[in-house]
Amino acid sequence: MEASEQASLDVDAIRADFPILEREVADGRDLVYLDNAATSQTPDQVVDAIADYYRRYNSNVHRGLHELSQEASVAYENAHDKLAEFVGGEDREEMVFTKNTTEAENLVAFAWGLNELGPGDEVVLTQMEHHASLVTWQQVAEKTGAEVKYIPITDDGYLDMDAAEEMITDDTEMVNVVHVSNTLGTVNPVGDLADIAHDHDAYIFVDGAQAAPTRPVDVQDIDADFYAFSGHKMLGPTGIGCLYGKRHLLADLEPFLYGGEMIERVSYEDATWNDPPWKFEAGTPVIAQGIALAEAVDYLEDVGMENIQAHEEALTEYAYDELTAHDDVDVYGPPGDDRGAAVSFNVDGVHAHDLSSILNDYGVAIRAGDHCTQPLHDTLGVPASARASFYLYNTREEVDALVDAVDEARQLFS
Ligand code: PLP
Repeated sequence: MEASEQASLDVDAIRADFPILEREVADGRDLVYLDNAATSQTPDQVVDAIADYYRRYNSNVHRGLHELSQEASVAYENAHDKLAEFVGGEDREEMVFTKNTTEAENLVAFAWGLNELGPGDEVVLTQMEHHASLVTWQQVAEKTGAEVKYIPITDDGYLDMDAAEEMITDDTEMVNVVHVSNTLGTVNPVGDLADIAHDHDAYIFVDGAQAAPTRPVDVQDIDADFYAFSGHKMLGPTGIGCLYGKRHLLADLEPFLYGGEMIERVSYEDATWNDPPWKFEAGTPVIAQGIALAEAVDYLEDVGMENIQAHEEALTEYAYDELTAHDDVDVYGPPGDDRGAAVSFNVDGVHAHDLSSILNDYGVAIRAGDHCTQPLHDTLGVPASARASFYLYNTREEVDALVDAVDEARQLFS
């Protein structure tokens, strides 16, 4: 299939579920939304699920014997099963709802790292990690005396796997790696890294924030110990993230937050903990968000994750080819036919922020900055980049609109 051909998605039908895509911006321009790696749009079905919850059975979970509370509890618990299965886990006991990917990272880093790490221990990250993992492990390392190391990237934006083999040793306790880079688009060989980590009795935490929304994920196939992702990047609401953890690891892990809901029994002296996942969901949890995220998973699965991946790959390759057709454009990361849907680039002589603001005048929404990967931008030798990112509702025409608007910016600055 040619890169320019679209996979078997009925994009018109999909777009009809996202009224926001009909919006006009910038004084009457059609919105071209290409900032999906930051936050995706939300279909009517998910908005309706939120409204239905608040209209019909809004209630706290696990605390009431009344009918509304029971309905909310069942829907909320089932949502855990659905999200666990979505990434290849078994059931709710392996799926903790958090606020976002960042909180999932903090949960494991603090609940596990603070208790298990010490001087001489190493946590191995990569040079392309998001601040969510990078800053978090730095903090835990500072508190415990452990050391953080970074697997380098090659010139074309892949992980240097020879270096990975050398850097992951018996001193390594945790490997934290992003599945699909939000800046380079690199799809990392997380299964191979899991094998290397496990050969040294280390755990692996996979940051799936960009992968889970865009491709089929199977945590058992990867053999991930922990796998995290965010609802708002996969058609769900903000305020909910997911932490998959192997059953025995979550059972052994200390709680991260304390209070109601996460306890089994409390006395004036001490307390015992509830079972996973509730042990990690202190206080009133993310009820409406969890139920709505399960609806988003239904939507994604109806379209088909393989179809979504194929659609994105076709758009990404097309965008890559069109952007790199100009000598003054640098696109970072692997070639267009071997990457995820985040395409970061710079145009000679135009700062990424200026580019983004000119694109905004043409109705094209992209992200500009460091995309929460400042150290990676240091490695790339640029302070910032522009980033376009595609999802299931984007079209080739929208890629053309991006490329045309970049042309306009080029002319303005020439
Ligand atoms: N990891 C990656 C790869 C991301 O792209 C992001 C968000 O951009 C995050 C982690 C953090 O996600 P959140 O802001 O939802 O916690």
